[in-house]
Amino acid sequence: MADAKIRLCVEHDLAASNSVPLNREQANYLFNVMRLGVGAHVLLINSRDGEYLAEVVDAGKRRGLLTVLSQTKPLQMPPDLWFLFAPIKKARTDFIVEKAAEMGAARICPVSTDYTSSDRVRQDKLQAHAMEAAEQCGGTYVPIVEEISKLTTVLEKWPEDRQLMFCDEARVGAAEALSKTAKGPWAILIGPEGGFSSGERDRLLAMPQTTPISLGPRILRADTAAVAALTVWQQALGDW
Ligand code: SAH
Repeated sequence: MADAKIRLCVEHDLAASNSVPLNREQANYLFNVMRLGVGAHVLLINSRDGEYLAEVVDAGKRRGLLTVLSQTKPLQMPPDLWFLFAPIKKARTDFIVEKAAEMGAARICPVSTDYTSSDRVRQDKLQAHAMEAAEQCGGTYVPIVEEISKLTTVLEKWPEDRQLMFCDEARVGAAEALSKTAKGPWAILIGPEGGFSSGERDRLLAMPQTTPISLGPRILRADTAAVAALTVWQQALGDW
């Protein structure tokens, strides 16, 4: 079992003796890039069944087949946390999605705000980043990455029972903390490089679910703020 280092996310059900066919990309990765052959072991996750050890039984150039052996980890769901952020430049957006997946967000939602500089995001690429992050960090759940939506639309449909940690650069330096008693569904909101407009700020602060939060005495870049906010939330209310 010690040889099974590669973790792969698949769509198939995972249970002992199930067969898992590989797609072209997965076969290429395992057999051409990683040079695995028949008999090699890999670990599989699918966001539903936990982590399973599997063995390669067919290794082609463009296809392959695995047989599932036994469970190595039970499913561990992340906390019920949505992570909302305004997309920035591509490399930094990729970083934000990767970090949100590693840090235990359950759902990642790009939102377009008044000062969002980039409204075009490739949801499929971001979902692939989240999957890779889950594969490498030992998670058994891959967070869902949504298509981009307007922040106003998201707020119109905001669930009554979901708290919102609003990371507001206008409160830089304020001494505020999350109340450790407010367990349950939460979301974190991070703005773009340009910050939030006053209209957005008023709208957010008028919602009873909103807790405005300062992330310290310095203005952070959005990607830094993302990691800082997830740390603060996880420490107070999450599964750390
Ligand atoms: N251009 C803005 C800063 C935007 S920083 C200005 O100069 O005021 C990008 C985002 O990171 C912000 O919208 C906010 O969500 C978050 N952020 C950065 N630093 C923060 C801080 N000290 N407190 C709370 N949120 C912060």
